[in-house]
Amino acid sequence: MAEIINGKAISEEVKAGVKTGVEELFDKTGVRACLSVILVGDDPASQVYVRNKKIACEACGIKSIEHRLPASATQDELLGIIAELNADPGVHGILCQLPVPKQIDENEVLLAIDPRKDVDGFHPMNVGKFMTLKSFEDIVERGVFLPCTPHGCIELLERSGVVLKGADAVVIGRSNIVGKPVAMMLLSKHATVTICHSRTKNISEIVKRADVVVAAVGIPGFVKGEWIKRGAAVIDVGMNRIDDPTASKGSRLVGDVEFDKAAEVAGCITPVPGGVGLMTVAMLMKNTLTSATCFARNKA
Ligand code: NAP
Repeated sequence: MAEIINGKAISEEVKAGVKTGVEELFDKTGVRACLSVILVGDDPASQVYVRNKKIACEACGIKSIEHRLPASATQDELLGIIAELNADPGVHGILCQLPVPKQIDENEVLLAIDPRKDVDGFHPMNVGKFMTLKSFEDIVERGVFLPCTPHGCIELLERSGVVLKGADAVVIGRSNIVGKPVAMMLLSKHATVTICHSRTKNISEIVKRADVVVAAVGIPGFVKGEWIKRGAAVIDVGMNRIDDPTASKGSRLVGDVEFDKAAEVAGCITPVPGGVGLMTVAMLMKNTLTSATCFARNKA
């Protein structure tokens, strides 16, 4: 039976490390790390995500500032707020909660955020820096922000003692926010990486060879238990809500992997919920500390 990777415990460890770093930075430099989150509209899921980020900031000693705009806000209004936050030396991280309403061009928003404050790691400047990163040890030195969900996957693997160097890793999914960056991160950790997507032939055969499987597909139970090699590490990024009349809400969250069957053969596996999801916010806190550290260094 697989070891269950405890995303809650690991995310708490990461946040505790961030809190220590935030207080040390403040004691040494007087700089209090600060994250500004912008929420446009009243999407219920986005409101929950923003609230969770605020709670995490409080736990880490990071100052948080929230900007709420109505669903009718124009692109210029949003870009105006971003420009003010870019210019504010007291703000180290800026995050615009996605998705934004239709009248706003998401790409323009991502491009408008100062790359030095882009704690989501979505600005092309950060994507480019990350692509040329030789090792993760350079992150603070070079002021690079790694995207939070994929970085959380790597943190879960490493803190669970999974050896990535030389491992055969298979990533299912090639989105810009999960699949592609997690594949690049595995590559920089010296794994041999195969990326599968909707046009890949014989996915089951490819997954069967993998020492490490990262599933980021968005289809409940897509990865079958019988595809998993004995002893493999399985990271399930999927967050899919399915109907379940027996659940109190009438629905529940499931991942992209057939958990019960995969857990019978895997060496370790993340549950959904309680796995990758909790890591995203923890890594956002880490990026905010990185940003504040870079700002304090450049100010000195
Ligand atoms: P996405 O943008 O929809 O990408 C899904 C990927 O899966 C695409 O690359 C797609 O291939 C591939 N795919 C779809 N059907 C496939 C099939 N039949 N066979 C093989 N590959 C297939 O999704 P995403 O944003 O990466 O998110 C993936 C999952 O992770 C979702 O469940 C999402 O909710 C979850 N997620 C969780 C977190 C978190 O835990 N914090 C964060 C982000 C996302 P093509 O490129 O060929 O279309």
